[in-house]
Amino acid sequence: MQRVYLDSNATTPVLPEVFEAMRPFYFDEFGNASSIHHHGQHARAAVEQARESVARLLGCRAAEVVFTSGGTEADNLAVFGLAGDGDHLITSQIEHHAVLNACKRLEQRGAEVTYLPVNAQALVNPDEVRKAIRPNTKLISIMMANNETGVIEPLEEIGRVAAEADIYFHTDAVQAAGKIPIEVGKIGCDLLSISGHKFHGPQGMGALYVRRGTLIDPLFYGGNHERQRRAGTENLPGIIGLGRAAEIALHGFDDGSLRRIQTLRDRLETRLLAQIDAAGVNSGGAPRVPNTSNIYFDHIEGEAMVIALDLKGLAVSTGAACSSGAIEPSHVLTAMGLAPDRARASIRFSIGKHNTEDDVEFALSLIPSTVARLRELSPTYSHA
Ligand code: PLP
Repeated sequence: MQRVYLDSNATTPVLPEVFEAMRPFYFDEFGNASSIHHHGQHARAAVEQARESVARLLGCRAAEVVFTSGGTEADNLAVFGLAGDGDHLITSQIEHHAVLNACKRLEQRGAEVTYLPVNAQALVNPDEVRKAIRPNTKLISIMMANNETGVIEPLEEIGRVAAEADIYFHTDAVQAAGKIPIEVGKIGCDLLSISGHKFHGPQGMGALYVRRGTLIDPLFYGGNHERQRRAGTENLPGIIGLGRAAEIALHGFDDGSLRRIQTLRDRLETRLLAQIDAAGVNSGGAPRVPNTSNIYFDHIEGEAMVIALDLKGLAVSTGAACSSGAIEPSHVLTAMGLAPDRARASIRFSIGKHNTEDDVEFALSLIPSTVARLRELSPTYSHA
């Protein structure tokens, strides 16, 4: 059975070049990067080379890159590393749960959090950020690109607001890395999270950019790894894989691969909208990362659609993978003002480097008929 995967915002396959770079570090080139013998030195050199590659992707210095176990840890390290009891944080209602639930936990510990609303396209208004600042505001955390709709937030403006008020600024760039250029200097952020598996690197591997001079409390206590910002023996193959994925991602801005992805996404979107009535793009018209399309097909149940398409070999999603199976509509789509029914009728398509024109044709051969069949079963559509 043909299987096509259009769920790259959930995770992506490791590229063969990434895997080949990692492979020796499981075998002959193993070593603990803290050991002083040959094996350790070799591992250390490889880790530092990978750090350089990640730094190039982010436009920062290598020493400002802290390797973590993924995006969730990077987000938690940023939030808990800077803010605590008595502090005020500003974030948005559309953040990933890695930020939202970290903020909720801080609230239980005595911090105050403002969850800013977004407009109909899921954009945060920088003026709202400015207005939310209080004397005890310690951290602003606004994502660079949203995982569900792909919308790109006005980070440079928010960065200016943070700088004017001299408040730390973190951005979750997990869904931006490898899809749009990142330059921490331009954004003006102090902290920035990325995750390897969203751009064809390994799962369980991420990084936090920590601007020089920014003191963060570590989440773990142990050895002096990562300049005392993240204790624990380095995940050597994972770090090598992240570094290689970062190099390839950086290339993607010049070698046409991102343009190709955007062409595939745009073709899918345009043809679906041309063929299916009562459908539209969530965050359409706003700046978006090139690989993501979130479309509502009124009068269907997103979960039913995901299952029906999966049975035919097409993998898509109703939103964040971790909330799939939950009955509540997506917190992102409801924050944008979508009615619960429309939010539940929304499907996320996200394209990766592995996808081809044939994959899009395959999707186009299945989606209109599946929507039509589900609508036949819908009591609301028969009355529409
Ligand atoms: N932040 C965003 C925007 C994400 O999309 C994700 C993953 O879906 C994460 C954070 C968490 O990253 P990880 O899966 O590496 O823990």
